[in-house]
Amino acid sequence: MVPGWDLRSSDAALELAEHHAPFVQAAVGVHPHHAAAMDERAWGAVEALIADPRCAAVGEIGLDFFRNLSPPDAQQAAFERQLEIAAARDLPVLVHDRDAHDAVSTTLLAWAGRRSSNVRGVVHAFSGDAAMAGMLTERGILISFALPLSFRSAVGARAAAAAIGAATYLVETDAPHLGPDRDGRNEPTTVLRVAAELARLRTMEPQAVADEARRAYDRMIGE
Ligand SMILES: [Zn+2]
Repeated sequence: MVPGWDLRSSDAALELAEHHAPFVQAAVGVHPHHAAAMDERAWGAVEALIADPRCAAVGEIGLDFFRNLSPPDAQQAAFERQLEIAAARDLPVLVHDRDAHDAVSTTLLAWAGRRSSNVRGVVHAFSGDAAMAGMLTERGILISFALPLSFRSAVGARAAAAAIGAATYLVETDAPHLGPDRDGRNEPTTVLRVAAELARLRTMEPQAVADEARRAYDRMIGE
């Protein structure tokens, strides 16, 4: 799943999906960093891309209170707006959460509460804790892990990975970020390392982790 972060990257994601179907799927979304740059015309263009049949999910959307490149109010408004668009189109959401665990949890759980069924989405590059992961997965929202899961400092994410239920999680690269090291390429094979770490934390075979992640992904995108 290749997400966009603004109009141009979303459009590029759709093209990538078209040329590499069925291995690549695309998401369209406005990242919180770009929330303040949006006006009604740009929102119209985003909605048109989301309506494109090549669009499989809405993302990245969410909150980033670490960098605050857009004011928090603008981030929250863009997040909620895109959650509603996703609900109206019955698409899953890909959610970014950096230093915004409470606000992301509250917003997502309220959104899920307003929907009677078919709550589909994922919090990506998860950096929360086991309690947050438990609350979200109970409402049908998946947790996605990137390579920092293997850092001993990722105490909350590691505890969450060990504790969450079967087939409630995904693996990701978060390319180009969160790669093996500063100079190493972060390419799709990075997810093998994430799966291996999940297998250790969950005391499962790596293949079983891959199967659970696959099941979770298929359910999220509605296959
Ligand atoms: Zn992100």
